Amino acid sequence: MRWQGQQLGATDAAALPGLERLDGLVRSVTTPEFAGVTFHEVMAKSALNHVPGASAMPFDWTVNPYRGCTHACTYCFARGTHEYLDLDAGHDFDSQIVVKINVGEVLQRELRRGSWQRDPVALGTNTDPYQRAEGRYRLMPGIISALTESGTSFSVLTKGTLIRRDLPLLKEAATRVDVTIATSIAVFDERLQHSVEPGTPTAAARLETVRAATEAGFGVTVFMMPILPHLTDSIPMIDDALRRVKDAGARNVVFGALHLRPGVKPWFFEWLEREHPELVSSYRGLYPGAAAMAPKAYRQWLARRMRPLVRAHGLDARAEDDGPPRGPVSGLAARAAIRKTGPPVGATAADRLF
Ligand code: SF4
Repeated sequence: MRWQGQQLGATDAAALPGLERLDGLVRSVTTPEFAGVTFHEVMAKSALNHVPGASAMPFDWTVNPYRGCTHACTYCFARGTHEYLDLDAGHDFDSQIVVKINVGEVLQRELRRGSWQRDPVALGTNTDPYQRAEGRYRLMPGIISALTESGTSFSVLTKGTLIRRDLPLLKEAATRVDVTIATSIAVFDERLQHSVEPGTPTAAARLETVRAATEAGFGVTVFMMPILPHLTDSIPMIDDALRRVKDAGARNVVFGALHLRPGVKPWFFEWLEREHPELVSSYRGLYPGAAAMAPKAYRQWLARRMRPLVRAHGLDARAEDDGPPRGPVSGLAARAAIRKTGPPVGATAADRLF
């Protein structure tokens, strides 16, 4: 394997402008396995992120081993966070990936402090911890072990199929702490999925992952979000998606309409203009100016459409607008749904959760 990079403390001539703002940069590397992607390996000073108390975020602690995400979802709410590095929220977010190579050890140290109250921790609430890079860096086993050893319950939310690698470890963890697994599957049509989430595994592969996690003993929640107006909200599409989710063994679904926060909107509209120009004026009407959320009338219409279908398939469902369910961990993954497509306008404190 040919890795290009440099040593600790050296300046990377190939690094993009702004990476001098990346504390603890060890080296920047490329590899033929990940064409077009640069990994910026950093020594993190901290692993646990505390969500500010005043934030609208419905969980208190997160761990994010990666910054940026090769899953490259066009609608990804986290895109704007790359701008803090002077990288852009579009292609750079998809291809300039910050990797906290020491996250497991740092987390272990933090969890051993006497002051740690063992509050539940949410994984996958900002960028995906099982994106492709995890196959190479294997950061999640260390994170899972540290949380388990400290008696800290946790939830994992992912679009990645790599989580299957860690199911034995997660199963073992679940004998000692509460572990919640959720999978996000927004687009079931393969052509559309490939277009709007070009780096993600197919819906079929993610459903197989749901099946594997279910067979391992987990009650899996599927996040059917974001639902894209005029693209994934027809009755036949929703009906087919719910049937497949049920067949895979999922227990619950959480659904919600697309959010387009300011850092995301230009990139999403660029995609829409290229791929579905006929929908641009309709989306401008649904998301005018700085509006991040679909209008309440649309969200209510969507809920009225979803609920009977959900019942018909024998699933439990929550709409994003229902708010978080009660309970310390059982609700964590579902509560994370609010984070995955973005909080209400103005609640942006968690942008800096890294
Ligand atoms: S929505 Fe999730 S999986 Fe998609 S790019 Fe963003 S962090 Fe990655």
